[in-house]
Amino acid sequence: PVNRTPEMQEERLKLPILAEEQAIMEAVAEHPIVIVCGETGSGKTTQVPQFLYEAGYSSEDSIIGVTEPRRVAAVAMSQRVAKEMNLSHRVVSYQIRYEGNVTEETRIKFMTDGVLLKEIQKDFLLLKYKVVIIDEAHERSVYTDILLGLLSRIVALRAKRHLPLKLLIMSATLRVEDFTQNQRLFTTPPPVIKVESRQFPVTVHFNKRTPLDDYSGECFRKVCKIHRMLPAGGILVFLTGQAEVHALCRRLRKAFPFRCSQPQEKEEDSAEGMRRFKKSRTRARKAQAMALPQINLDNYSVLPAGEGDEDREAEMDDEEEALGSDLDLDLGDSEANEGEQPDASLPLHVLPLYSLLAPEKQAQVFKPPPEGTRLCVVATNVAETSLTIPGIKYVVDCGKVKKRYYDRVTGVSSFRVTWVSQASADQRAGRAGRTEPGHCYRLYSSAVFGDFEQFPPPEITRRPVEDLILQMKALSIEKVINFPFPTPPSVEALVAAEELLVALGALQAPPKQERMKKLQMSQLSCPITALGRTMSTFPVAPRYAKMLALSQQHGCLPYTIAIVAAMTVRELFEELDRPAASEKELAELKGRRARVAQMKRTWAGQGPSLKLGDLMVLLGAVGACEYAGCSPQFCQANGLRYKAMLEIRRLRGQLTTAVNAVCPEAGLFLDPKMQPPTESQVTYLRQIMAAGLGDHLARRVQSEDLLDPKWKNAYKTPLLDDPVFIHPSSVLFKELPEFVVYQEIVETTKMYMKGVSTVEIQWIP
Ligand code: ADP
Ligand code: MG
Repeated sequence: PVNRTPEMQEERLKLPILAEEQAIMEAVAEHPIVIVCGETGSGKTTQVPQFLYEAGYSSEDSIIGVTEPRRVAAVAMSQRVAKEMNLSHRVVSYQIRYEGNVTEETRIKFMTDGVLLKEIQKDFLLLKYKVVIIDEAHERSVYTDILLGLLSRIVALRAKRHLPLKLLIMSATLRVEDFTQNQRLFTTPPPVIKVESRQFPVTVHFNKRTPLDDYSGECFRKVCKIHRMLPAGGILVFLTGQAEVHALCRRLRKAFPFRCSQPQEKEEDSAEGMRRFKKSRTRARKAQAMALPQINLDNYSVLPAGEGDEDREAEMDDEEEALGSDLDLDLGDSEANEGEQPDASLPLHVLPLYSLLAPEKQAQVFKPPPEGTRLCVVATNVAETSLTIPGIKYVVDCGKVKKRYYDRVTGVSSFRVTWVSQASADQRAGRAGRTEPGHCYRLYSSAVFGDFEQFPPPEITRRPVEDLILQMKALSIEKVINFPFPTPPSVEALVAAEELLVALGALQAPPKQERMKKLQMSQLSCPITALGRTMSTFPVAPRYAKMLALSQQHGCLPYTIAIVAAMTVRELFEELDRPAASEKELAELKGRRARVAQMKRTWAGQGPSLKLGDLMVLLGAVGACEYAGCSPQFCQANGLRYKAMLEIRRLRGQLTTAVNAVCPEAGLFLDPKMQPPTESQVTYLRQIMAAGLGDHLARRVQSEDLLDPKWKNAYKTPLLDDPVFIHPSSVLFKELPEFVVYQEIVETTKMYMKGVSTVEIQWIP
């Protein structure tokens, strides 16, 4: 029996899902798998676990598990449900990657989908659960999709054992055909229960024109207008990332003071660093001169048995998190307020909301604002479906979202700000009509809206899958091709992934005769190797993971981490090839280009270090920039993109943590005064890079091939018929070494290799 307070009981009864309690519980009793669809705010996340609890679906040794794609939601919802049920967090608990409050008494456990995936590794049948709820399934995060595939099998296996497991799939949209119409996933289509929600009308206002890029400024002006002119009611603003959120919060607090704003951070700067870096490198170079030492390609870091998977999951946090992203550090408040006078007569209670915000700060948004103030929540898209903030009457939508984007050529991922889908924009608008009729201000025109894609495609179809395949193999799913994905990746993508992983040594090569039948997909079922297991713990693409795994030899790790971070971030240097508007600008651009070319040569050095080519440039740039405290001034002076350099710093920190988890004896830390590599270390690094980029090999054409002038200075690669060239921006452009590996090929007027490093013929298998 649950002892709810009368006020809480009254609040619950207003939720539309209460009307469906009986229908849901009957469906759950009769079917192993049930889908519940209902508008955001209808009560799915907070109420369904309570229905199950009250119906006795949890006991001492089998509990109710709820997965969320976001940590914010896992924490906030466990707290809310505990409060509604008048139970302690010892009973209604959460577990996210680094923390949790689960106890022996826990009956309802909220967790991120990554946490449940890891539990499946340890206990495939998930015997400690009587019910698993997959929440926010409409988001189609890769982990949610894989969980659904696994659970479809686990449910069947549990039924066989007469230990039935119930699976509930909850979605904020009615678009669930991928689950219901997919016979391989669920042979019997699960019943779908729709929750009718009482949504008040929301009037949508489009901008006449779409601002080119200053959507933050546009948000600021819109909020000011609403706050000055429109009746009471909370404002919810959608922006794309944490730094943007903070910048707008600060600006709004200044304009409508109510609380003192946050203290400013100080920027450090030094140009001295550069000189010191160069000097110490010269010293290091002199210290050693040896003939090509060899790295041992069979000597890689291996996880201690049974450990080390702690850091594996890359939880779906839509932003910031994974590979570093949000770098719109606002450089002071110079542009703020635009002549607006602070107006203390109209206090605005401004609160930020994003994934990585501390739980106690997140909780603020659910509290009523102080007397006489208006609530204004500035959020990333966590507020789109995961959390419902009470009392919102106005939504301001910038129409953008930050998404991880995968480069088809390199597989490198980065975060980019793009337009949302129409479905997302409508979800955002819907946030305004929960308690009374509301208004949504879209900061873009209706024509732009018309061009949005209708729905966001499932994440799994938008990215290369080698990392995913590696994760699944680490879960002992060998025949990935047979896996019941809700939406499978293409067969080509699967084959390419498996081949690459075999080449990298992450998967065991199939025996010879099987390799002949390569095109028979059923053959693609190579098991993971010990190396593969280690690689699966690093939050970077498998190529780069291989480099990291090899680098504990000869003290190469800090360098490999820096190079991998820089390669992942891409485009360290400012774009200086743009057309100039005037003579003066042209002269300036020329000057800057010369300066950048000079710096690249300096960073690449001479002799052995130059052989590491563009990767040595990356290492030198990162080293020098860190030495100088990564200041905007240093970047500006040397043609480096400040944002990129900050992103690299963040990723280096993450990779250092991940490496320490695998080999704690390395005792790595982020050294801002990293010494340059010695000459022999440079050679090791070249081999390490070649081990990861081995299939990106090119050989300079031999004189006999030179009959056709189009092959002058050209290179031949195994896969392309056409000549490829070293990009003019490369420090090896004039060197023309015989064998090179490259990071990527970009096609402009010709096919150009970028990120080039030389390799020795004896390293090529
Ligand atoms: P759904 O999962 O269907 O989107 P929820 O169960 O998350 O809906 O939310 C149901 C209602 O509970 C919302 O309307 C919201 O106002 C309220 N609610 C959720 N969490 C809190 C909280 N921490 N504090 C106050 N109200 C909350
Ligand atoms: Mg929910």
